[in-house]
Amino acid sequence: MTRAYNFNAGPAAIPLEVLEQAQAQFIDYEGAGMALMEMSHRSATYEKVNQEAQDLLRELMNIPDNYKILFLQGGASTQFAMIPMNFLSEGKAGAYIDTGAWAGKAIKEAKVIGEAVVAASTKEDSYMRTPKASEIVVPENAAYVHLTSNETIGGVQYKTFPEFANAPLIADMSSDILSRPIDVSKFGMIYAGAQKNLGPSGVTVVIVREDLIAESPKTIPAMLRYDTHAKANSLYNTPPSFAVYMVGLVLKWIKGKGGLAALEQYNLEKTALIYNVIDESNGFYVGCANQEDRSTMNITFRIKDKDEELEKKFIKESEAAGFVGLKGHRDVGGLRASTYNAVPLESCAALAQFMKEFQQRNS
Ligand code: PMP
Repeated sequence: MTRAYNFNAGPAAIPLEVLEQAQAQFIDYEGAGMALMEMSHRSATYEKVNQEAQDLLRELMNIPDNYKILFLQGGASTQFAMIPMNFLSEGKAGAYIDTGAWAGKAIKEAKVIGEAVVAASTKEDSYMRTPKASEIVVPENAAYVHLTSNETIGGVQYKTFPEFANAPLIADMSSDILSRPIDVSKFGMIYAGAQKNLGPSGVTVVIVREDLIAESPKTIPAMLRYDTHAKANSLYNTPPSFAVYMVGLVLKWIKGKGGLAALEQYNLEKTALIYNVIDESNGFYVGCANQEDRSTMNITFRIKDKDEELEKKFIKESEAAGFVGLKGHRDVGGLRASTYNAVPLESCAALAQFMKEFQQRNS
């Protein structure tokens, strides 16, 4: 079997070693005579899977003891609603930093629930950058400040995070969680759908400071309350057990790679291969994001003059050469290479080479 050069944006590449281990354990999980997904989520075996995944995540991200780790369902999109539901008490507003498509969806959903204020927006700069701290205006009544650490569609990523004295920071890290070390204690809450850096789709990881979830409004249904899941150790109802198991395997793989500092270096090395081709192309390729805010997870670029015909040709020829997922998101067009943790350096080197040759053939 040849593995494709998988640059999918999500669901995305999973380390081959992880897939192989899951395959080896698939039918008979640790001698139980059944697959993990056939087992009760109340069994000691699953409780161990659930606990080990949490413990490893805590270790890798250095998550302080006063934070809960939750495994939820409904994707990051459900968090867009749960955040305002749980945190917007009477008279409070959610402050949102608008950096593109995903931040925009979070804002739209918050407005369904309560007051959502745009504390800063880079729309006027076509979402090519993250805002400077000085541009962010947080209202007095802010319950939290929400940002999107990596805009998966735009390819813009915060390199440092703003801090606010009067409101906890909530970050949607769906597309760059575990790609680099971060200081969890600077955040009130971090959340991420699993299907980019954590494993398969079906589970959403929430890391939340305990004091923030102590007093959610009584009117919220049980499934949409953070405290419900926190009290039940993510076993309130039937969890996506196989997805959580896969996350555990991915976390072990990350530990084996040397943890987040090592992965950060690896990701920088991988993406430099591709960004260098863009920068040295004499304008044949044009990166979409400002250089200092470029994502190490989603490389977005165009071919000169936004030449859609040539971009189509690029996609077609790249597919014939074994590359998958290089088409930009349908809302913005262009090209995008998603280089999540599990995308190997070899895939990035092969893409860099393909891009150089494509340029030579077409200029
Ligand atoms: N936020 C970001 C940054 C994303 O990239 C995505 C998915 N691409 C989402 C939220 C939505 O996630 P889900 O599909 O898991 O609801």
